Order: sequence, then C-alpha cells, then structure tokens
Amino acid sequence: MEFSLIDRIRERTAQARDDVRLGIGDDAALLAVPAGQELAVAIDTLVEGVHFPRGTAAADIGWKALAVNLSDLAAMGATPAWALLALTLPNADADFIDGLATGFAQLAQPYRLALVGGDTTRGALTISVAVHGFVPAGKALTRTGAQVGDLVMVTGTLGDAAAGLRLVQQGGQDDPRSAWLIERLNRPVPRIAAGLALRDCASACIDVSDGLLADLGHICAAGAVGAQIDASLLPRSSALLDWFDDDASLDFALSGGDDYELCFTVSPQKLAATQAELARLGCGATRIGRIVAGEGVCVRDRDGRQRATARPGWDHFAA
Ligand code: ADP
Ligand code: MG
Repeated sequence: MEFSLIDRIRERTAQARDDVRLGIGDDAALLAVPAGQELAVAIDTLVEGVHFPRGTAAADIGWKALAVNLSDLAAMGATPAWALLALTLPNADADFIDGLATGFAQLAQPYRLALVGGDTTRGALTISVAVHGFVPAGKALTRTGAQVGDLVMVTGTLGDAAAGLRLVQQGGQDDPRSAWLIERLNRPVPRIAAGLALRDCASACIDVSDGLLADLGHICAAGAVGAQIDASLLPRSSALLDWFDDDASLDFALSGGDDYELCFTVSPQKLAATQAELARLGCGATRIGRIVAGEGVCVRDRDGRQRATARPGWDHFAA
C-alpha cells in the first residue's frame, strides 16, 4: 500500500549496513546475525492519548517510539541494529510522516540502526516499533539475578517525564521553565552505553518505564528477593524540585513512568568500579537502597518510617 508514504520513510531513515541483505521494499527483510551473537528483540506500541498527549509533535513521536524500544535493548545490554515500524494513521499526511521519520532517524543515526521494514495501515494514530539488537551469546543482562546484600542503583534522575506530562496537561508547555521536563517526556535518551557497560557488573537490570516501584518490583519478583529503598536518596533533578514540593516530587520519582533510566543491582564489591565506568560514559548513577530477603519494594522516609506510596506503577488494565 501507499508507496509514496513508505518511500518518504525510507528516504529519511536510510542507513547502510552490511548485515542488511535486503531492506524495505520486498515481502520481508533479510538480515544476517553476526556469529557468536544472540538477537535481543523487543516491541512497544505508542497510542495517541495513552502514551503521548494529543498535539505532540510528529518528530517527538518518531523519536519516542524508537527510544522506548532502545531502552529495552539497553536494559538487556544489547547493541541496537535493526527496527521495524508499524504505523496506523488516521490519514496520509505527508508532513506528519516526514516529521515522524525525521525524529526516528535522529535517534537511529548515532547507533547506525537500520529501519528494515514495517507496515502502514489506516486507523487511530498508533505507532509500533520492533527493535533487534545483538548481545554476545550468554551475556545478556536480565531482571533475574539480584542477590540479598546487593545495592540498588539507578541512572540519571527520576520523575522528570511524569512531571513534564503534568505540566503539559496543565497547559504549561509554552513556559520556558518547563522545557527541560517536557523534553524528558518527549525525547527520552535510552541508556544504551550504560547497558553495555553494565553487562560486566550488574546482577540484574530493568529500564524504568512504568515507574521505579513497579519496575524494581519486577527485579524483586524475578529474583525472589525484596528491596528497601531510602526515599531521601532518590535522584531528583533541580527542574523537578523547582516545580514540585518534596512530597509531590517524591511521588513522581517513585511512581511516575516514562523515565527510561536503568535500575540495576550490583554487589557492594563492584560498586566503585561500576560507578567509575558509568561516570566515564557521562552517566551518573545513584545508590538508592539495597536488596533484602523477603519480597516487594519497601520505601523508607528520612526518619526511617515506612512511607505510604500514593500510586502504584502504570497498569493499562487496572480497574
Ligand atoms: P506487504 O503487502 O508485502 O506487507 P507492504 O505494502 O505492506 O507490503 O510493504 C511494502 C514494503 O514496505 C515492505 O518491505 C514493508 O516492510 C515496507 N513498509 C511498509 N510500511 C512501512 C513502514 N511504515 N516503515 C517501514 N517500512 C515499511
Ligand atoms: Mg504489509
């Protein structure tokens, strides 16, 4: 269908790679996985009004649709290689397609990621991206492996994207003081380099897409362990703290989604080397708590009391 739309996408996302034997244009792409590598494969869908607010710029949508997927590869310690793009559009709007493809390409380019195919259909605006990455056989990072006594770490800062969404919903997108938080919402930067470095240090890893409590909860469930988090240690940006008070910003940091930072566990012996390696990559990482025997995530206030957490993580099918 719609070859001119597909051509527009192809032109804007062109990326030559030897391992793409046949890209966009045939019935299927033909791809060569390098010897000794496993494929890490992930897919994520963005639905207008659910995963991004109506009115989000096309280029931001294209960037974010790829970013949320690259974040999954980052959490596995995989190197991005190829992507598929399934687009459902209410109409064949060339400007929108051009913007979307341009935003996608801006993020794809530094990784030399090739768009190798997709599908284009008509309907409510929905963007699915599937990514494929390489990881040396047996070396992938997973959610499983956290040990009692490990430290819980997180890259960057938490809560910014959820705060950015709140500001957009309040009509604050034209206030220059909200620009950075909204950028965190619309243009998340996947932690690919950090994920690769963590392959050799972390015992478990996940990307924070649904909120720290929910995502760290997955590490706990996978490892049959619990986690104790110290609220006062949660890394919060000065922009977040400028806009929201201590309590509201803590809520965003604990339960807000869309940050796409990495949450990982590391043995205390490896902490210094891990932090040095991440710092070398320009990626800050903060110790926020530790893995304990038991189950679930417990958050303690500055004074040691257990903090009641206002909202659980995002669940599309929650009542
Ligand atoms: P088919 O009927 O064989 O699925 P399509 O007309 O859907 O063919 O697609 C033609 C070619 O264009 C295929 O190679 C497909 O992978 C590619 N393609 C379709 N839509 C997109 C898209 N949104 N992004 C990238 N490639 C696409
Ligand atoms: Mg098709």
